[in-house]
Amino acid sequence: MTAQTTNALIEMQSVSKFYDKYQALKEVSLSVPKGKKLVICGPSGSGKSTLIRCINGLESYLEGRITVDGTFLAPSGKGADAVRRKVGMVFQHFNLFPHLTVLQNLTIAPVRIGKVPKAEARERAMQYLERVHIADHADKLPSQLSGGQQQRVAIARALCMKPQAMLFDEPTSALDPEMIGEVLDVISELAEDGMTMICVTHEMGFARRVADEVVFMDQGIILERRPPEEFFSDPRHPRARAFLDRILR
Ligand code: ADP
Repeated sequence: MTAQTTNALIEMQSVSKFYDKYQALKEVSLSVPKGKKLVICGPSGSGKSTLIRCINGLESYLEGRITVDGTFLAPSGKGADAVRRKVGMVFQHFNLFPHLTVLQNLTIAPVRIGKVPKAEARERAMQYLERVHIADHADKLPSQLSGGQQQRVAIARALCMKPQAMLFDEPTSALDPEMIGEVLDVISELAEDGMTMICVTHEMGFARRVADEVVFMDQGIILERRPPEEFFSDPRHPRARAFLDRILR
């Protein structure tokens, strides 16, 4: 189904998600216009990861409606393949194939799923490796790279599918502190180039610099969605204030 109800690139309407009896998302609505950069923050367990995993069909949902660029992602997950061609995802733990080289990690999906000819896929992969400043390591295995380098490879791998939007699920949480900056710099460059993105992160400096809006979640609900300068200087909801007091202390 391709019916488009709004001009948003990513649209969630009243989405509810349960894990058995536990409700992780409570009628969440989120609309992301093309080119917007959202940072999602909130306490651990508030549903941030579940929300973005629902957007690319890694989790089914019970009720509501999700569309990406007009493609309907059914609650059951039907439509996920089409949606994943439009949104790339980067995970906390990189999720690279350990037995494949960096270059092979980048070409496998375009060749097998995107039906891109091998030579073109390799050329595209090298372009994106240059873009994340790691082309010198194309023939190495992931285990031969630092965590920051592996995460940059994971970003390049997602870009090789030429997504219209990128989802980042705590992309720097598993990194040693000295590697966080290099990954956030790459994400910032993507943002500057106009990529639509949703990033779940606790990096509030990044949120201030890069986000058009900060979304604050708690207990499966979006409690605030505001430009960073407003959110950080004057959080409205008491739970947002308490959260910021804790993490910015
Ligand atoms: P956050 O990303 O904000 O830390 P999550 O989306 O990971 O939160 O989790 C939201 C809630 O759903 C938490 O209470 C978590 O324990 C629960 N949850 C997440 N994934 C699963 C799962 N696969 N099975 C059962 N419960 C889950």
